[in-house]
Amino acid sequence: MRAAIAVLGRKVEAASRIISSAPIGPSRRRYANAVLVLRSKHGPVRLLAKLKKIERSFGRRRGGARWGPRVLDLDIVLWQGGAWSSKGLTVPHIDFRTRPFVLEPAAQIAPLWRDPLTGLTLRQLRGRLQRSTSRRLTEPDPLPIGQRW
Ligand code: ATP
Ligand code: MG
Ligand code: MG
Repeated sequence: MRAAIAVLGRKVEAASRIISSAPIGPSRRRYANAVLVLRSKHGPVRLLAKLKKIERSFGRRRGGARWGPRVLDLDIVLWQGGAWSSKGLTVPHIDFRTRPFVLEPAAQIAPLWRDPLTGLTLRQLRGRLQRSTSRRLTEPDPLPIGQRW
């Protein structure tokens, strides 16, 4: 990840710390995650094409299991407060509001950036996710034991 960040070079305005998170999906190994603020002279579609090229140059090949182990995944989370949707690109990233491994590092480096769809800042989105997770952990299980799954 540090090498990939180095490839982005002068585009990188800020970088969070690298955090480790438990896998979702089929991987059994932990993931490393970080969020960057990038300055790009291109629009989001050109930027994503460049990011995919970097993924390939690090050995990423398409066609593995969804969310399976991969050497590198570079996604666009937010774009200057704007929203964008086309066949190969949706910005803000469709799932970022429910991913602690995105919101935690994102709120570290850009706490006041706003999600244009909910109007909430990254810090507020992180707080909202933390509250919903701790509620889930403390609520009594609604299903009688033995009837789960
Ligand atoms: P997830 O989107 O759940 O994080 P992923 O990053 O592992 O999954 P990929 O295989 O990297 O998924 O990407 C699948 C496709 O998603 C890409 O080919 C890309 O065109 C598309 N895509 C749509 N929106 C975005 C975005 N905001 N950032 C990156 N890729 C995106
Ligand atoms: Mg991804
Ligand atoms: Mg991706």
